[in-house]
Amino acid sequence: MNNTMQQYRIVRKRFGQNFLIDQYVIDRIVSFIQPLHNQAMVEIGPGLGSLTKSIIKYIDRLTVIEIDRDLVRQLSEHPFISHKLNIYQQDVMTINFSKLSHELGQILRIFGNLPYNISTHLILHLFTYINVIRDLHFMLQKEVVNRLSAVPNGKEYGRLTIITQYYCKVVRLLEVPPQAFCPVPKVNSTLVRLVPRTNILHPVKNINMLSYITYVAFNQRRKTVRNSLGHLFKPQQLVEIGIDPKQRAENISIENYCKLTNLFYTKSLKT
Ligand code: SAM
Repeated sequence: MNNTMQQYRIVRKRFGQNFLIDQYVIDRIVSFIQPLHNQAMVEIGPGLGSLTKSIIKYIDRLTVIEIDRDLVRQLSEHPFISHKLNIYQQDVMTINFSKLSHELGQILRIFGNLPYNISTHLILHLFTYINVIRDLHFMLQKEVVNRLSAVPNGKEYGRLTIITQYYCKVVRLLEVPPQAFCPVPKVNSTLVRLVPRTNILHPVKNINMLSYITYVAFNQRRKTVRNSLGHLFKPQQLVEIGIDPKQRAENISIENYCKLTNLFYTKSLKT
């Protein structure tokens, strides 16, 4: 059992706890994040504070959101960092980030070594607060980052890719091996930066409709779009947008999904 485990004997698997123990990796993450004084920095899942302690050297105040009350107690009693922490003992999925941004007086820089079991839900949840987010830096399962950063025509390109790249630029930053964590996870990890776009490239009239159309298309990803989207669009409508009806969901660009969404929106006004 190493030091980290001795500090915290019970690892709660249900909270996706894999603590960072490699100081080189931690330093690299901090150098990518580049925290600055008077920025509204927010860490999701500080755990035992591996990242927290390194980030907090650069700033006066850090907001942390941690669900595990034993870890919260350790953080709040920590002799060197507790006085700089603004701690929320809460499930991050219940945090109102608009309110938090308002309280902190500026838009948020959010980061964390995320619990893998909630990471994709959390990212989609955060997009509902995109207007109050300056950037996101997350350690994620490598496969998830592959999906976030995918391009059309591959098996990793899907709904998560489209919704993420609709809102954000995606930058892969660092590949991290399992040995950097304790306990050692079964998967590789990747640090990624998501930067909300100042100008959305292909704005849609209704984001829920983009979500719906991509859900329908990728739910039957082996079918041609003529079939999978056949109850929503006529083949001629697909062609007019520039989509070959014989293509599959993974062959359609984000731009064309946005065009489909706006056509669907216009059609919905007429019915
Ligand atoms: N940041 C620490 C590190 O790198 O060593 C811990 C990372 S660990 C992968 C994920 C952390 O998120 C744990 O501390 C866990 O308790 C916390 N967590 C899990 N689910 C959460 C949730 N729904 N809301 C807030 N924190 C959560």
